[in-house]
Amino acid sequence: MGIRPVLLLGNPLLRAACVRVRKYGTPDLLELVADLTDTLHDFRLRHGFGRGIAAPQIGDNRRVLVIEAGGESGGARAIVNPEIVRSSRQMMTLWDDCFSFPDLAVKLKRHLSVEVRYRDPEGKEHLLKARGALAELLQHEIDHVNGILALDRAVDSKHIVYKTELEKIKKGALRKEM
Ligand SMILES: [Zn+2]
Repeated sequence: MGIRPVLLLGNPLLRAACVRVRKYGTPDLLELVADLTDTLHDFRLRHGFGRGIAAPQIGDNRRVLVIEAGGESGGARAIVNPEIVRSSRQMMTLWDDCFSFPDLAVKLKRHLSVEVRYRDPEGKEHLLKARGALAELLQHEIDHVNGILALDRAVDSKHIVYKTELEKIKKGALRKEM
């Protein structure tokens, strides 16, 4: 199927908890991974951001993500049935964004590092130790398969803003302490 439409904030499918994948290596699962990868690439071309996508964002309720974190491993990585098995007590604060509300930025806190156990599409088990940008990305995408959106984690409602306004604030064109 290739590139699929990305569901937007308000679509109830983004709020459903997804189901575990039970059979690995099936054509159906491989097609989902291919569609997620194609949709991620297409979105990044058109919007200029994006390092990960979760199945519910294209209307599929399986616990599957595709991330492309650059540096670390390069290329797209398909993550099936992810589970955060350890997370640091230390937190980081950052501005996050999401394909499902591409014009908004939200300030939130994430664990500085996490360990994620997952299967690849063929069913092989992996343990991924991540810190910083990759840790933050994994937490964002794993939230998606639990029906949680970055907006839910905003430090407060004042820190949900349009990206255009955030840029003005950063440049000092708007006077406001964020
Ligand atoms: Zn997202």
